[in-house]
Amino acid sequence: MKAKFTNFVKSYFFSKKFFNKTQYYPKEECGIYGIYGIEEAAKYTYLGLYALQHRGQESSGIVSSDGERLYRYAGMGQVANIFDQDKIKILKGNIAIGHNRYSTTGASFLRNAQPIRVECHLGSFALAHNGNIINAWELRKYYEERGSIFQTTVDTEIIAHLMSKCGKKNFLDALIIALKKISGAYSLLVINPKEIYAARDPLGFRPLVMGKHKSGAIVFASETCAFDITEVQYIRDVEPGEIIKVSQKGIESFFPFSDSSIKESLCIFENIYFSRPDSYIFNRSVYEVRKNLGKYLAIEHPANADIVVGVPDSSIVAALGYSEQSKIPYTIGLTRSHYIGRTFIEPEQKIRDFGAKVKYNVIKNAVFNKRVVLVDDSIMRGTTSKKLIKMLRKAGAKEIHLRISAPPTRFPCFYGIDIPTRNELIASSHTVEEIKKHLRVDSLGYLSIENALKAMEVENAPKSHWCYACFSGEYPLPFPNADYDNQKNLFSEYLIEEIK
Ligand code: AMP
Repeated sequence: MKAKFTNFVKSYFFSKKFFNKTQYYPKEECGIYGIYGIEEAAKYTYLGLYALQHRGQESSGIVSSDGERLYRYAGMGQVANIFDQDKIKILKGNIAIGHNRYSTTGASFLRNAQPIRVECHLGSFALAHNGNIINAWELRKYYEERGSIFQTTVDTEIIAHLMSKCGKKNFLDALIIALKKISGAYSLLVINPKEIYAARDPLGFRPLVMGKHKSGAIVFASETCAFDITEVQYIRDVEPGEIIKVSQKGIESFFPFSDSSIKESLCIFENIYFSRPDSYIFNRSVYEVRKNLGKYLAIEHPANADIVVGVPDSSIVAALGYSEQSKIPYTIGLTRSHYIGRTFIEPEQKIRDFGAKVKYNVIKNAVFNKRVVLVDDSIMRGTTSKKLIKMLRKAGAKEIHLRISAPPTRFPCFYGIDIPTRNELIASSHTVEEIKKHLRVDSLGYLSIENALKAMEVENAPKSHWCYACFSGEYPLPFPNADYDNQKNLFSEYLIEEIK
């Protein structure tokens, strides 16, 4: 009986059905943190990663240095469950980097946990990467055909190979050459026994901020919420196309990419959904931006309603903005359990539907007999909205006016945000009217691209250029071999090995 069951599981995993259902394209929504020049650097890194948990819950790792050797520990799951006092003690030294990984595929394994540590003629070093290298597959194939062996199936590893193979003995030179060969999104931290490097791709897709601890230690993180927990003052963003080196000599900044290649394309979705509202990224407050998104939404799509309810947590601030602008009172009509993972990452429809129920609950007394404006930041497959609307109706909501604080998501992201394939994205094949009918709402309104861009303009922020390919399909960097409808997985053959 047992053997029969095992065979069934095996055959299912290797069947086409499984592969068709599961996206294997390696997407990395991650959080990174690094600190240079402080005792117990790993402890600070642990706290920083803890604050960045929303950016990745699949695995977490820290690499530290005592000036001579690197120490690494990584595990599957969430930060607080992976590290304890004893493990932090092993991670000796005054320099450390860390990484939280969010993989969207069903398959995930320890070998892919970052930071990735390597040894080569450049010495020992480790990399922590947020973003997505879009030519990693081509580069990897090239080196594999010439005998290279890769230890992981994450795109980041190619950077180490390029550094090792470029023929340069100087670490910074090797890093520059490697980064010039890759294309895509990367906010990157690299540690060797004596230095930390922070780099951001020339288009600056993903955020990376720099700060200073009161002791003088220099800190890098994906978002400033990681600074607040470690009492670090924000100094500035690592600029698109910049490499910052921190060593005994202090801070050195390099801009190795020619000016013509630098055309800033900051990810608009970081502000709309992904980053924490208490963070400051891309030289602006996420809170201010989200408030603006809500305000513009209220102007563009007003509603006759009694209350405004935000989908917790990511849409609360936009809902507040909507309420402020429309003068319709903000009400907590939904609560959310914080003890389950994001339903979004569940691979099968059946589980996802269930997840929405487990995740949210309606406060009946707040919504009963009310005309509700429900604000969410996005509709992907439509699963979450559909469930929430059903739940609100069951709780006695009289009318539901769904407002989305972003334009319709029609295209996948190749630069590191987990957005489903075009086939799965409801807005890529349905009109707003059709989605309205499907969700059974009284009205539905999405923010226009024009207003979403306006919302990014907050006080004291520089004029920025944004990547909004997920809404427009205009990709700032073309994806080699893109299968825009299916995002055909290029790394699948390796993952099959792992499932075994
Ligand atoms: P869906 O249920 O597929 O329509 O997904 C929409 C819900 O997922 C919304 O409530 C969003 O806040 C949330 N969401 C949007 N983008 C992401 C993402 N990249 N990762 C996880 N959740 C997301």
